[in-house]
Amino acid sequence: MSADLRPVKRTGPVGRYAPSPTGDLHLGNLRTALRAWEDCRRRGGTFILRIEDLDPPRTVPGAEARMIEDLRWLGLDWDEGPDAGGPAGPYRQSERGAIYQAALDELTRRGLTYPCVCSRRDLREASAPHGEAGEPVYPGVCRSADPERLARHPGGAAVRFRLPDDAVIEFEDAAAGPQRFDLNRLCGDFVIRRRDGLWAYQLACAIDDALMGVTHVVRGADLLTSTPRQIAVLRALGLPVPSYCHIPLVADEAGRRMCKRDGSCSIRALRAAGQSADEVRRIIMQARLVDVENG
Ligand code: GLU
Repeated sequence: MSADLRPVKRTGPVGRYAPSPTGDLHLGNLRTALRAWEDCRRRGGTFILRIEDLDPPRTVPGAEARMIEDLRWLGLDWDEGPDAGGPAGPYRQSERGAIYQAALDELTRRGLTYPCVCSRRDLREASAPHGEAGEPVYPGVCRSADPERLARHPGGAAVRFRLPDDAVIEFEDAAAGPQRFDLNRLCGDFVIRRRDGLWAYQLACAIDDALMGVTHVVRGADLLTSTPRQIAVLRALGLPVPSYCHIPLVADEAGRRMCKRDGSCSIRALRAAGQSADEVRRIIMQARLVDVENG
C-alpha cells in the first residue's frame, strides 16, 4: 500500500469536528461541535478540526474563518487543524486530493472501482428503485461495461465503489444503538469520485478519519446512513474503523431540522443580539431535537 495511506501514529483517543464551510454555523452545527468536543475532552483525547471544503462551488469565501471564530468564542479548542497544524495535515480536504487519489488507485488495483457514465437523467429514466433511505439504488448499468470505453466518454465518467454481493455492514452506534445496513439495498455501488472530478464525501471523510487516527466520530444523525459506506471503504483498504456516535439534530421553529440557509439561527445573529457564550451554550443544550428524516 502506498505510504500516503498509512494512518498517523497516535496514542490515546482522537475526536474531530468536520464542518463544511458552506455558510455560518447554526445552533445545530454548534451542538454537534460541542458534543464532539466534550466527548473527546472527557476521554482526555486529541481533538481535530477538519474543514470539509470538497465542493468549491458550495464553499463560501470567509466561512472557514468565521466558523473558527465562532467555535473559539463558544469555548472550543482543538489540538490540530488548519490554523494549528499537526502531524496528520493538511486539515482542509481541498488540499488532500493526492491522498484521495492514492486511495482510489489502491481500490482500483484491488478491482473495487469502475467508471460510470450514467447521468441523473439516465438513472431517473431507468427508474432506479429507491432504497431503505429513500435514495436511488444504483442499478449497476456500467458495472460490466468496458471501462476503457467508459473512461473515454465525452461527458467524463464518475467512479463508483464496487460492492461485494454480500455488503451487509453492522456496527454499534454509541447513541443510536446496533445498526445493520445492506448496502446493495441502501444505495448500491456508490460514487467515490464525481463525474466533474470532485471527490465524494464518502471517500474523503472515511479516508481522513482513518489516516488522521480518529477513534471516535461524533456527528449528526443525518449521516447515519453514510457510515456503512465509509466502513465498507475502510474495510476494503484494511484501514482502521473508528467508533461512531450519531446524535439527534436541533429542530427549527417548525420542528424541522435546522439548515444553514436559516440565518436567524446562526450564532452570528445571536452574538449580534448580545447573547453571551454561556447563554448560547445553554440555548444549544436545551434546544428541541428532531428525529432525522432519512438521508
Ligand atoms: N462535513 C459534514 C457536514 O458539515 C460533516 C461530516 C462528518 O462529520 O462526517 O455536514
